[in-house]
Amino acid sequence: MEILPLESWVKPIYVKGKRKPVVIAGPCSAETEEQLLTTCKAILDNNREDVDILRAGIWKPRTRPNTFEGVGEVGLQWFQQVGKELNIPIATEVATPQHVELALKYGVNVLWIGARSTVNPFTVQDIADVLKGVDIPVIVKNPINPDLALWLGAIERIAGAGIKKIAAMHRGFSTYEKNKYRNAPMWQIAIELKSKMPNLPIFFDPSHVGGKREFIEPLSQKALDLNYDGLMIETHINPEKAWSDAEQQVTPIRLGEIFNAISIRSTSSDNQDFVSHLDDLRKRIDRIDHEIVEALSSRMQLVEQIGDYKKANGVAIFQFERWLQVFQTRPEWAAKMGIDKDFVAQLFKIIHDESIRVQTERPAKK
Ligand code: PEP
Ligand code: MN
Repeated sequence: MEILPLESWVKPIYVKGKRKPVVIAGPCSAETEEQLLTTCKAILDNNREDVDILRAGIWKPRTRPNTFEGVGEVGLQWFQQVGKELNIPIATEVATPQHVELALKYGVNVLWIGARSTVNPFTVQDIADVLKGVDIPVIVKNPINPDLALWLGAIERIAGAGIKKIAAMHRGFSTYEKNKYRNAPMWQIAIELKSKMPNLPIFFDPSHVGGKREFIEPLSQKALDLNYDGLMIETHINPEKAWSDAEQQVTPIRLGEIFNAISIRSTSSDNQDFVSHLDDLRKRIDRIDHEIVEALSSRMQLVEQIGDYKKANGVAIFQFERWLQVFQTRPEWAAKMGIDKDFVAQLFKIIHDESIRVQTERPAKK
């Protein structure tokens, strides 16, 4: 499967020698010609350096009927005009072969497949079939349910149609349990996708994960910390009055504040404060790692003593009760100290295996 790098379809912007993450911004939906134009103009007036692509939903897949379902074809006419006037690529969601044909007719530059389409292999295949022979970038959002295979499968179907400019977009997953976010991020699934397809560029959509304006900044920061290639942030000239997703959209001015707050402009290596602070943190990590190895060494010495003692007294090395207790208490301590208990359980599994090996290999005392 051939996947071209992001630079082949978005002009890379370098800030202090480091490539800036790609930003897609724009309203959840195109509502009126006026709303679309004023929103997109204000986005670029305030964020020309940061925004690479404009977005707007033309057909809205709504969970319940009788809500705003998008303006349809006329919105593509407005959007094409806006893109030309502002000289910037435009992106929209497609959910049927007819959407693809219309988007191509109106010169849309980037397509994305929404979460509610990725779940359905028939839909994805229908879209892939009309994309055969077309050279356009396609971004595949994760399916609404936490199923990595469906996400991978959709990407493979699009690639199977000959599309090489492909990216994924992580927009979170629906869960029955209430979560503080609208869609649980489940970062692990996106990380697994990346490990299976290392060349695949991956975007993050903090608007649909968070569901609320206030979460956009911290979620975007987290995505950048995890090395995502880009962000898609829903932006509206008057978010409170938006016809869809009103709670999660930000104003073009707020969008700029978010870019100022997160490290999107990159803290590069020529910033001395950054370098010395990083150095300081790394030295502290080195000291702690040294302590960890020292502690392991002391522990192993005790293990050897215990091994010898057991042998001398004819007691078996592996004692189930004891290890049940170890595996129970250590993760509990971890949880109390604010670290992941599964991580600590795994760590002690490795330590346990090594203790058994060391004890087994002790020579019998004469
Ligand atoms: C969107 O980006 O407007 C959208 C509908 O997203 P999702 O498919 O992630 O729900
Ligand atoms: Mn939306």
